[in-house]
Amino acid sequence: MRTVKTLFFGCILSFSSLAATSPADTATSQIIQLALQPSSLEMNLRRLTDEIGGRVPGTPAMQHAIDWGVQAFTAAGADNVHTEGFTIPFSWAEGNTEMTATTAYQVSATKVGGATVLSPFRVRAVSVAWAPALAPVKHVPIVDVGDGTESDFKKAGDIAGKVLLVHSVVLRTWDDLFAEYAKAPPVIDLAVKGKAKAIAFMATREHDILYRHTNSGAGEIDRLPMVIVAREDGERIARLLAAGNLVWADLSIPNQIGGPIKSSNVVAEITGSELPDEFVILGAHLDSWELGTGALDNGCNAALVIDALRAIKASGVRPRRTIRFILFSGEEEGLLGSRAYAFNHRRELDKAAGVVIYDSGTGKTTGFSVGGRNDVLFTAKDLIEPLTQFDVKDLSTTMEWGTDHFDFMLEGVPTFVADQVEANYLENYHAVSDTYDKVDFAQLKKNVAEAAALSFGLANLLQKIGPRLTRDQIEQTMRDSNSVDMFKAFGIWDEWANGTRGREK
Ligand SMILES: [Zn+2]
Repeated sequence: MRTVKTLFFGCILSFSSLAATSPADTATSQIIQLALQPSSLEMNLRRLTDEIGGRVPGTPAMQHAIDWGVQAFTAAGADNVHTEGFTIPFSWAEGNTEMTATTAYQVSATKVGGATVLSPFRVRAVSVAWAPALAPVKHVPIVDVGDGTESDFKKAGDIAGKVLLVHSVVLRTWDDLFAEYAKAPPVIDLAVKGKAKAIAFMATREHDILYRHTNSGAGEIDRLPMVIVAREDGERIARLLAAGNLVWADLSIPNQIGGPIKSSNVVAEITGSELPDEFVILGAHLDSWELGTGALDNGCNAALVIDALRAIKASGVRPRRTIRFILFSGEEEGLLGSRAYAFNHRRELDKAAGVVIYDSGTGKTTGFSVGGRNDVLFTAKDLIEPLTQFDVKDLSTTMEWGTDHFDFMLEGVPTFVADQVEANYLENYHAVSDTYDKVDFAQLKKNVAEAAALSFGLANLLQKIGPRLTRDQIEQTMRDSNSVDMFKAFGIWDEWANGTRGREK
Protein backbone atom coordinates (compact mmCIF):
# COMPACT_ATOMS: atom_id res chain seq x y z
CA MET A 1 0.00 0.00 0.00
CA ARG A 2 1.23 3.42 -0.81
CA THR A 3 1.03 6.30 1.58
CA VAL A 4 0.54 9.77 0.24
CA LYS A 5 3.06 11.68 2.22
CA THR A 6 2.55 15.17 0.87
CA LEU A 7 -0.72 17.01 0.56
CA PHE A 8 -0.42 18.55 -2.88
CA PHE A 9 -4.10 19.30 -3.11
CA GLY A 10 -4.02 22.52 -1.13
CA CYS A 11 -2.88 24.57 -4.08
CA ILE A 12 -4.90 22.65 -6.62
CA LEU A 13 -8.36 22.06 -5.29
CA SER A 14 -10.73 24.32 -3.43
CA PHE A 15 -11.55 23.48 0.17
CA SER A 16 -14.92 22.05 -0.75
CA SER A 17 -13.48 19.72 -3.35
CA LEU A 18 -10.71 18.74 -0.95
CA ALA A 19 -13.40 17.53 1.39
CA ALA A 20 -14.69 15.32 -1.41
CA THR A 21 -11.29 14.04 -2.52
CA SER A 22 -11.53 10.49 -3.82
CA PRO A 23 -8.69 8.01 -4.24
CA ALA A 24 -8.74 8.82 -7.97
CA ASP A 25 -8.23 12.54 -7.27
CA THR A 26 -5.34 11.67 -4.99
CA ALA A 27 -3.73 9.49 -7.65
CA THR A 28 -4.17 12.22 -10.26
CA SER A 29 -2.50 14.81 -8.03
CA GLN A 30 0.32 12.44 -7.40
CA ILE A 31 0.82 11.74 -11.11
CA ILE A 32 0.85 15.48 -11.85
CA GLN A 33 3.52 16.09 -9.23
CA LEU A 34 5.63 13.18 -10.47
CA ALA A 35 5.39 14.48 -14.05
CA LEU A 36 6.72 17.87 -13.00
CA GLN A 37 9.76 16.41 -11.27
CA PRO A 38 13.17 16.08 -13.00
CA SER A 39 13.23 13.16 -15.41
CA SER A 40 14.92 11.80 -18.51
CA LEU A 41 12.64 13.92 -20.72
CA GLU A 42 15.40 16.31 -21.84
CA MET A 43 17.93 13.55 -22.41
CA ASN A 44 15.47 11.42 -24.37
CA LEU A 45 14.59 14.32 -26.65
CA ARG A 46 18.20 15.41 -27.09
CA ARG A 47 19.11 11.89 -28.19
CA LEU A 48 16.16 11.67 -30.58
CA THR A 49 16.81 15.03 -32.24
CA ASP A 50 20.56 15.72 -32.01
CA GLU A 51 21.87 12.16 -32.20
CA ILE A 52 19.26 10.49 -34.44
CA GLY A 53 17.99 13.59 -36.27
CA GLY A 54 15.17 13.96 -38.81
CA ARG A 55 13.15 10.74 -39.19
CA VAL A 56 11.52 9.91 -42.50
CA PRO A 57 10.07 6.38 -42.78
CA GLY A 58 12.30 4.15 -44.86
CA THR A 59 15.52 5.78 -43.65
CA PRO A 60 18.01 4.37 -41.10
CA ALA A 61 17.20 7.35 -38.83
CA MET A 62 13.55 6.22 -38.58
CA GLN A 63 14.63 2.72 -37.62
CA HIS A 64 16.98 4.17 -35.00
CA ALA A 65 14.10 6.25 -33.66
CA ILE A 66 11.94 3.12 -33.34
CA ASP A 67 14.74 1.43 -31.37
CA TRP A 68 15.03 4.61 -29.26
CA GLY A 69 11.30 4.37 -28.50
CA VAL A 70 11.51 0.72 -27.41
CA GLN A 71 14.48 1.44 -25.13
CA ALA A 72 13.02 4.62 -23.63
CA PHE A 73 9.64 2.96 -22.89
CA THR A 74 11.44 0.06 -21.24
CA ALA A 75 13.57 2.40 -19.13
CA ALA A 76 10.42 4.32 -18.14
CA GLY A 77 8.95 1.14 -16.63
CA ALA A 78 6.49 -0.13 -19.25
CA ASP A 79 4.85 -3.49 -18.46
CA ASN A 80 5.49 -4.51 -22.09
CA VAL A 81 6.73 -2.93 -25.32
CA HIS A 82 6.41 -4.08 -28.92
CA THR A 83 6.43 -2.71 -32.46
CA GLU A 84 3.76 -3.15 -35.13
CA GLY A 85 4.73 -2.84 -38.78
CA PHE A 86 2.81 -1.37 -41.67
CA THR A 87 3.58 -0.57 -45.30
CA ILE A 88 3.99 2.75 -47.08
CA PRO A 89 3.52 2.36 -50.86
CA PHE A 90 6.62 4.34 -51.95
CA SER A 91 9.90 5.50 -50.49
CA TRP A 92 10.94 9.06 -51.20
CA ALA A 93 14.10 11.10 -50.64
CA GLU A 94 15.18 14.45 -51.96
CA GLY A 95 18.29 14.72 -54.10
CA ASN A 96 20.17 17.90 -54.82
CA THR A 97 17.30 20.15 -55.93
CA GLU A 98 18.58 23.13 -57.92
CA MET A 99 16.78 26.11 -59.38
CA THR A 100 18.14 29.16 -61.15
CA ALA A 101 16.00 32.00 -62.44
CA THR A 102 17.16 34.19 -65.27
CA THR A 103 15.63 37.50 -66.19
CA ALA A 104 16.30 39.84 -69.10
CA TYR A 105 16.50 43.56 -68.63
CA GLN A 106 17.35 46.57 -70.78
CA VAL A 107 20.66 48.24 -69.98
CA SER A 108 19.07 51.65 -70.34
CA ALA A 109 15.78 52.12 -68.59
CA THR A 110 14.98 55.15 -70.76
CA LYS A 111 16.31 54.33 -74.23
CA VAL A 112 14.04 52.05 -76.24
CA GLY A 113 15.80 49.34 -78.23
CA GLY A 114 18.96 49.35 -76.10
CA ALA A 115 21.03 46.27 -75.29
CA THR A 116 19.41 43.47 -73.30
CA VAL A 117 21.29 41.79 -70.48
CA LEU A 118 20.56 38.35 -69.01
CA SER A 119 20.72 38.20 -65.23
CA PRO A 120 20.68 34.74 -63.62
CA PHE A 121 20.23 34.27 -59.88
CA ARG A 122 20.05 31.22 -57.69
CA VAL A 123 16.64 30.38 -56.22
CA ARG A 124 16.73 28.57 -52.90
CA ALA A 125 14.30 25.67 -53.33
CA VAL A 126 13.39 22.28 -51.91
CA SER A 127 11.15 19.64 -53.40
CA VAL A 128 7.70 19.03 -52.03
CA ALA A 129 7.74 15.59 -50.38
CA TRP A 130 6.46 12.58 -52.29
CA ALA A 131 6.45 14.71 -55.47
CA PRO A 132 7.97 13.14 -58.60
CA ALA A 133 11.48 13.87 -59.83
CA LEU A 134 12.14 16.27 -62.68
CA ALA A 135 15.10 15.67 -65.01
CA PRO A 136 17.08 18.89 -65.56
CA VAL A 137 15.21 21.41 -67.73
CA LYS A 138 16.57 24.74 -68.96
CA HIS A 139 15.06 28.07 -69.91
CA VAL A 140 11.48 27.21 -68.97
CA PRO A 141 9.26 30.32 -68.74
CA ILE A 142 7.95 31.12 -65.26
CA VAL A 143 4.38 32.35 -65.10
CA ASP A 144 2.80 33.97 -62.04
CA VAL A 145 -0.57 32.38 -61.21
CA GLY A 146 -1.20 34.59 -58.18
CA ASP A 147 -3.06 32.76 -55.43
CA GLY A 148 -3.83 29.93 -57.81
CA THR A 149 -7.59 30.38 -58.01
CA GLU A 150 -9.51 29.43 -61.13
CA SER A 151 -9.71 33.07 -62.24
CA ASP A 152 -5.98 33.54 -61.58
CA PHE A 153 -5.30 30.60 -63.88
CA LYS A 154 -7.61 32.07 -66.55
CA LYS A 155 -5.71 35.37 -66.38
CA ALA A 156 -2.38 33.55 -66.68
CA GLY A 157 -3.42 32.06 -70.04
CA ASP A 158 -1.45 29.18 -71.54
CA ILE A 159 0.56 27.43 -68.82
CA ALA A 160 1.61 24.36 -70.83
CA GLY A 161 5.25 23.45 -70.26
CA LYS A 162 5.79 26.36 -67.86
CA VAL A 163 6.80 26.66 -64.21
CA LEU A 164 3.97 28.17 -62.16
CA LEU A 165 4.73 30.58 -59.32
CA VAL A 166 2.03 30.43 -56.62
CA HIS A 167 1.82 33.16 -53.99
CA SER A 168 1.16 32.59 -50.28
CA VAL A 169 0.63 34.51 -47.07
CA VAL A 170 3.02 34.42 -44.13
CA LEU A 171 2.02 31.63 -41.74
CA ARG A 172 0.92 33.03 -38.38
CA THR A 173 -2.09 31.09 -37.12
CA TRP A 174 -3.54 27.57 -37.16
CA ASP A 175 -6.14 28.85 -39.64
CA ASP A 176 -3.36 29.99 -42.00
CA LEU A 177 -1.83 26.52 -41.87
CA PHE A 178 -5.16 24.87 -42.54
CA ALA A 179 -5.69 27.23 -45.50
CA GLU A 180 -2.23 26.38 -46.88
CA TYR A 181 -3.08 22.67 -46.94
CA ALA A 182 -6.54 23.27 -48.39
CA LYS A 183 -5.24 25.50 -51.16
CA ALA A 184 -2.80 23.07 -52.81
CA PRO A 185 -5.08 20.32 -54.22
CA PRO A 186 -7.15 22.61 -56.51
CA VAL A 187 -3.95 24.37 -57.67
CA ILE A 188 -2.45 20.99 -58.57
CA ASP A 189 -5.67 20.02 -60.41
CA LEU A 190 -5.50 23.16 -62.55
CA ALA A 191 -1.76 22.80 -63.15
CA VAL A 192 -2.15 19.19 -64.33
CA LYS A 193 -5.11 20.15 -66.53
CA GLY A 194 -3.09 22.96 -68.14
CA LYS A 195 -0.07 20.64 -68.62
CA ALA A 196 2.31 22.79 -66.54
CA LYS A 197 5.89 21.56 -66.16
CA ALA A 198 6.15 22.19 -62.41
CA ILE A 199 4.79 24.30 -59.56
CA ALA A 200 6.88 26.64 -57.39
CA PHE A 201 5.03 27.45 -54.17
CA MET A 202 6.27 30.59 -52.45
CA ALA A 203 7.33 29.73 -48.89
CA THR A 204 4.97 30.85 -46.14
CA ARG A 205 7.96 31.66 -43.89
CA GLU A 206 10.19 34.72 -44.24
CA HIS A 207 13.97 35.06 -43.88
CA ASP A 208 14.87 32.33 -46.33
CA ILE A 209 13.39 29.56 -44.22
CA LEU A 210 12.60 26.46 -46.23
CA TYR A 211 10.41 23.63 -45.08
CA ARG A 212 9.11 20.27 -46.19
CA HIS A 213 5.53 20.12 -47.28
CA THR A 214 3.51 17.32 -48.84
CA ASN A 215 0.26 17.32 -50.74
CA SER A 216 0.09 13.56 -51.09
CA GLY A 217 -2.39 12.06 -48.62
CA ALA A 218 -1.54 8.37 -48.51
CA GLY A 219 2.11 7.94 -49.40
CA GLU A 220 1.40 7.96 -53.13
CA ILE A 221 3.65 9.88 -55.56
CA ASP A 222 2.05 13.18 -56.54
CA ARG A 223 1.02 14.17 -60.04
CA LEU A 224 3.68 16.71 -61.03
CA PRO A 225 7.00 18.10 -59.80
CA MET A 226 6.71 20.79 -57.13
CA VAL A 227 9.12 22.92 -55.13
CA ILE A 228 8.89 25.36 -52.24
CA VAL A 229 10.94 28.45 -53.06
CA ALA A 230 12.31 30.86 -50.47
CA ARG A 231 9.81 33.65 -50.00
CA GLU A 232 12.38 36.35 -50.79
CA ASP A 233 13.28 34.68 -54.12
CA GLY A 234 9.62 34.10 -54.99
CA GLU A 235 8.72 37.72 -54.31
CA ARG A 236 11.66 38.86 -56.47
CA ILE A 237 10.46 36.74 -59.40
CA ALA A 238 6.91 38.03 -58.90
CA ARG A 239 8.08 41.66 -58.95
CA LEU A 240 10.12 41.07 -62.11
CA LEU A 241 7.17 39.48 -63.89
CA ALA A 242 4.83 42.25 -62.70
CA ALA A 243 7.25 44.84 -64.12
CA GLY A 244 7.11 43.14 -67.51
CA ASN A 245 10.46 41.30 -67.40
CA LEU A 246 10.56 37.78 -68.72
CA VAL A 247 11.85 35.20 -66.23
CA TRP A 248 12.96 31.65 -67.06
CA ALA A 249 13.85 28.77 -64.79
CA ASP A 250 16.55 26.13 -64.96
CA LEU A 251 15.26 23.42 -62.69
CA SER A 252 16.47 20.01 -61.56
CA ILE A 253 14.65 17.87 -58.95
CA PRO A 254 16.45 14.51 -58.75
CA ASN A 255 14.21 12.93 -56.09
CA GLN A 256 14.89 9.27 -55.34
CA ILE A 257 11.72 7.23 -55.39
CA GLY A 258 11.53 3.54 -54.60
CA GLY A 259 9.09 0.74 -53.96
CA PRO A 260 7.09 -0.05 -50.82
CA ILE A 261 8.75 0.43 -47.44
CA LYS A 262 8.00 -0.97 -44.02
CA SER A 263 7.79 1.21 -40.95
CA SER A 264 6.58 0.52 -37.42
CA ASN A 265 4.58 2.02 -34.58
CA VAL A 266 6.01 1.53 -31.08
CA VAL A 267 3.46 0.39 -28.48
CA ALA A 268 4.03 0.21 -24.71
CA GLU A 269 1.49 -0.62 -22.02
CA ILE A 270 0.61 -0.16 -18.40
CA THR A 271 -1.80 -3.01 -17.82
CA GLY A 272 -5.14 -2.21 -16.24
CA SER A 273 -5.99 -3.59 -12.80
CA GLU A 274 -9.67 -4.44 -13.30
CA LEU A 275 -10.48 -4.20 -17.01
CA PRO A 276 -7.19 -4.99 -18.74
CA ASP A 277 -8.89 -5.66 -22.12
CA GLU A 278 -10.26 -2.16 -22.22
CA PHE A 279 -7.73 0.49 -23.12
CA VAL A 280 -6.95 4.16 -23.48
CA ILE A 281 -4.36 5.31 -26.03
CA LEU A 282 -1.95 8.17 -25.40
CA GLY A 283 -0.16 8.82 -28.68
CA ALA A 284 2.12 11.11 -30.64
CA HIS A 285 3.98 10.61 -33.88
CA LEU A 286 7.64 9.70 -33.81
CA ASP A 287 8.48 10.33 -37.47
CA SER A 288 9.38 13.78 -38.73
CA TRP A 289 10.65 15.64 -41.75
CA GLU A 290 14.37 15.85 -42.17
CA LEU A 291 15.37 19.44 -43.01
CA GLY A 292 15.47 20.11 -39.27
CA THR A 293 15.46 17.44 -36.55
CA GLY A 294 11.73 17.30 -35.78
CA ALA A 295 11.97 18.66 -32.24
CA LEU A 296 8.68 20.58 -32.07
CA ASP A 297 7.03 18.36 -34.67
CA ASN A 298 6.87 16.03 -32.99
CA GLY A 299 9.86 14.74 -31.05
CA CYS A 300 8.88 16.71 -27.97
CA ASN A 301 5.54 14.92 -27.81
CA ALA A 302 7.02 11.50 -28.49
CA ALA A 303 9.19 12.21 -25.43
CA LEU A 304 6.05 13.43 -23.62
CA VAL A 305 4.28 10.11 -24.19
CA ILE A 306 7.25 8.21 -22.74
CA ASP A 307 7.50 10.55 -19.77
CA ALA A 308 3.77 10.29 -19.08
CA LEU A 309 4.22 6.52 -18.81
CA ARG A 310 7.10 7.10 -16.40
CA ALA A 311 5.02 9.42 -14.19
CA ILE A 312 2.00 7.09 -14.04
CA LYS A 313 4.19 4.06 -13.36
CA ALA A 314 6.14 5.94 -10.68
CA SER A 315 2.90 6.74 -8.84
CA GLY A 316 2.46 3.03 -8.15
CA VAL A 317 -1.24 3.37 -8.93
CA ARG A 318 -2.61 1.07 -11.59
CA PRO A 319 -5.51 2.44 -13.65
CA ARG A 320 -8.61 0.23 -13.94
CA ARG A 321 -8.10 -0.07 -17.72
CA THR A 322 -4.90 -0.59 -19.68
CA ILE A 323 -3.14 2.46 -21.11
CA ARG A 324 -1.38 1.98 -24.44
CA PHE A 325 1.34 4.52 -25.12
CA ILE A 326 1.90 4.66 -28.87
CA LEU A 327 4.55 6.36 -30.99
CA PHE A 328 3.13 6.40 -34.50
CA SER A 329 5.21 6.40 -37.68
CA GLY A 330 4.24 7.68 -41.14
CA GLU A 331 2.18 10.56 -39.76
CA GLU A 332 3.76 13.13 -42.04
CA GLU A 333 2.98 11.05 -45.13
CA GLY A 334 -0.74 11.06 -44.33
CA LEU A 335 -1.41 9.67 -40.82
CA LEU A 336 -0.33 6.29 -42.16
CA GLY A 337 0.80 4.64 -38.91
CA SER A 338 -2.28 5.55 -36.89
CA ARG A 339 -4.50 4.73 -39.84
CA ALA A 340 -2.92 1.27 -40.07
CA TYR A 341 -3.26 0.81 -36.29
CA ALA A 342 -6.95 1.83 -36.24
CA PHE A 343 -7.64 -0.44 -39.22
CA ASN A 344 -5.74 -3.45 -37.88
CA HIS A 345 -7.32 -3.12 -34.42
CA ARG A 346 -10.85 -2.21 -35.49
CA ARG A 347 -12.28 -5.47 -34.08
CA GLU A 348 -11.18 -4.47 -30.56
CA LEU A 349 -12.08 -0.77 -30.77
CA ASP A 350 -15.35 -1.45 -28.91
CA LYS A 351 -13.01 -1.73 -25.93
CA ALA A 352 -11.23 1.57 -26.62
CA ALA A 353 -12.02 4.06 -23.89
CA GLY A 354 -10.43 7.13 -25.46
CA VAL A 355 -7.52 8.30 -27.59
CA VAL A 356 -5.42 11.28 -26.46
CA ILE A 357 -3.05 12.90 -29.00
CA TYR A 358 -0.39 15.61 -28.75
CA ASP A 359 1.02 17.11 -31.95
CA SER A 360 1.54 20.87 -31.61
CA GLY A 361 5.00 21.43 -30.22
CA THR A 362 5.43 22.85 -26.75
CA GLY A 363 2.80 25.59 -26.85
CA LYS A 364 0.69 25.91 -23.74
CA THR A 365 -2.34 23.61 -23.74
CA THR A 366 -5.66 25.45 -23.52
CA GLY A 367 -7.91 22.40 -23.64
CA PHE A 368 -8.92 19.50 -25.82
CA SER A 369 -10.94 18.94 -29.00
CA VAL A 370 -13.27 16.02 -28.56
CA GLY A 371 -14.01 15.16 -32.18
CA GLY A 372 -17.64 16.22 -32.45
CA ARG A 373 -18.68 14.32 -29.30
CA ASN A 374 -21.15 16.34 -27.22
CA ASP A 375 -21.87 13.17 -25.21
CA VAL A 376 -18.41 13.14 -23.60
CA LEU A 377 -18.33 16.81 -22.56
CA PHE A 378 -19.81 16.41 -19.10
CA THR A 379 -17.36 13.75 -17.92
CA ALA A 380 -14.44 15.32 -19.79
CA LYS A 381 -15.02 18.54 -17.87
CA ASP A 382 -14.57 16.58 -14.64
CA LEU A 383 -11.43 14.89 -15.93
CA ILE A 384 -9.73 18.16 -16.83
CA GLU A 385 -10.71 19.85 -13.56
CA PRO A 386 -7.30 19.01 -11.98
CA LEU A 387 -5.68 20.74 -14.96
CA THR A 388 -7.21 24.16 -14.33
CA GLN A 389 -4.01 24.89 -12.34
CA PHE A 390 -2.31 24.95 -15.77
CA ASP A 391 -5.20 26.96 -17.35
CA VAL A 392 -6.37 23.92 -19.27
CA LYS A 393 -10.12 24.42 -19.34
CA ASP A 394 -11.60 24.54 -22.85
CA LEU A 395 -13.35 21.66 -24.51
CA SER A 396 -14.20 22.03 -28.17
CA THR A 397 -16.34 19.69 -30.25
CA THR A 398 -14.44 20.39 -33.48
CA MET A 399 -13.72 17.34 -35.64
CA GLU A 400 -10.11 18.07 -36.46
CA TRP A 401 -8.16 16.62 -39.33
CA GLY A 402 -4.41 16.33 -39.59
CA THR A 403 -3.14 14.23 -36.73
CA ASP A 404 -3.22 10.71 -35.38
CA HIS A 405 -6.61 10.75 -33.64
CA PHE A 406 -8.27 10.97 -37.04
CA ASP A 407 -8.83 7.34 -38.00
CA PHE A 408 -9.89 6.48 -34.44
CA MET A 409 -12.46 9.27 -34.65
CA LEU A 410 -13.73 7.81 -37.94
CA GLU A 411 -14.01 4.45 -36.13
CA GLY A 412 -16.29 6.02 -33.52
CA VAL A 413 -13.82 6.08 -30.62
CA PRO A 414 -13.84 9.15 -28.30
CA THR A 415 -10.78 11.25 -29.13
CA PHE A 416 -9.02 14.11 -27.33
CA VAL A 417 -6.57 16.26 -29.27
CA ALA A 418 -4.61 18.74 -27.18
CA ASP A 419 -5.39 22.30 -28.29
CA GLN A 420 -2.23 24.32 -27.87
CA VAL A 421 -1.31 27.94 -28.53
CA GLU A 422 0.87 28.49 -31.60
CA ALA A 423 3.93 29.67 -29.58
CA ASN A 424 6.96 29.10 -31.85
CA TYR A 425 5.48 26.06 -33.58
CA LEU A 426 4.37 27.58 -36.87
CA GLU A 427 7.47 29.64 -37.64
CA ASN A 428 9.51 26.43 -37.36
CA TYR A 429 6.92 24.07 -38.80
CA HIS A 430 8.56 21.29 -40.88
CA ALA A 431 11.46 23.70 -41.34
CA VAL A 432 15.25 23.68 -41.19
CA SER A 433 14.85 25.53 -37.89
CA ASP A 434 12.80 22.85 -36.06
CA THR A 435 15.56 21.87 -33.64
CA TYR A 436 16.05 21.04 -29.95
CA ASP A 437 16.86 24.65 -28.98
CA LYS A 438 13.23 25.65 -29.80
CA VAL A 439 11.75 23.40 -27.12
CA ASP A 440 10.17 25.05 -24.07
CA PHE A 441 10.85 22.37 -21.45
CA ALA A 442 9.04 24.12 -18.60
CA GLN A 443 5.86 24.05 -20.66
CA LEU A 444 6.55 20.56 -22.01
CA LYS A 445 6.66 19.21 -18.46
CA LYS A 446 3.25 20.73 -17.76
CA ASN A 447 1.98 19.12 -20.94
CA VAL A 448 3.36 15.78 -19.72
CA ALA A 449 1.43 16.24 -16.47
CA GLU A 450 -1.75 17.05 -18.38
CA ALA A 451 -1.39 14.14 -20.80
CA ALA A 452 -0.70 11.71 -17.98
CA ALA A 453 -3.58 12.98 -15.84
CA LEU A 454 -6.15 12.87 -18.64
CA SER A 455 -5.06 9.43 -19.87
CA PHE A 456 -5.10 8.05 -16.34
CA GLY A 457 -8.47 9.68 -15.71
CA LEU A 458 -10.01 8.11 -18.82
CA ALA A 459 -8.54 4.72 -17.94
CA ASN A 460 -9.77 4.89 -14.37
CA LEU A 461 -13.43 5.89 -14.90
CA LEU A 462 -16.05 3.48 -13.61
CA GLN A 463 -17.74 3.55 -17.03
CA LYS A 464 -16.06 4.37 -20.34
CA ILE A 465 -16.44 8.06 -21.12
CA GLY A 466 -18.62 7.27 -24.10
CA PRO A 467 -19.62 4.41 -26.39
CA ARG A 468 -18.08 3.62 -29.73
CA LEU A 469 -20.34 5.37 -32.22
CA THR A 470 -21.97 3.52 -35.09
CA ARG A 471 -21.30 4.56 -38.67
CA ASP A 472 -24.58 6.50 -38.82
CA GLN A 473 -23.78 8.29 -35.57
CA ILE A 474 -20.28 9.21 -36.79
CA GLU A 475 -21.72 10.64 -39.98
CA GLN A 476 -24.24 12.60 -37.92
CA THR A 477 -21.42 14.14 -35.84
CA MET A 478 -19.75 15.19 -39.11
CA ARG A 479 -22.92 16.97 -40.17
CA ASP A 480 -23.65 18.45 -36.74
CA SER A 481 -20.12 19.87 -36.49
CA ASN A 482 -20.19 21.21 -40.10
CA SER A 483 -17.17 19.07 -40.97
CA VAL A 484 -18.40 17.60 -44.25
CA ASP A 485 -16.99 20.40 -46.46
CA MET A 486 -13.61 20.15 -44.75
CA PHE A 487 -13.53 16.39 -45.32
CA LYS A 488 -14.46 16.96 -48.97
CA ALA A 489 -11.67 19.54 -49.38
CA PHE A 490 -9.10 17.00 -48.22
CA GLY A 491 -10.50 14.14 -50.28
CA ILE A 492 -11.49 12.21 -47.16
CA TRP A 493 -15.21 12.34 -47.77
CA ASP A 494 -14.93 10.03 -50.79
CA GLU A 495 -12.93 7.51 -48.74
CA TRP A 496 -15.54 7.66 -45.99
CA ALA A 497 -18.46 7.43 -48.42
CA ASN A 498 -17.02 4.49 -50.37
CA GLY A 499 -16.11 2.62 -47.19
CA THR A 500 -12.31 2.55 -47.58
CA ARG A 501 -11.87 4.59 -44.40
CA GLY A 502 -13.78 4.65 -41.13
CA ARG A 503 -16.25 2.40 -39.36
CA GLU A 504 -17.90 -0.27 -41.47
CA LYS A 505 -21.40 -0.12 -39.88
ZN1 LIG B 1 3.12 16.61 -36.36
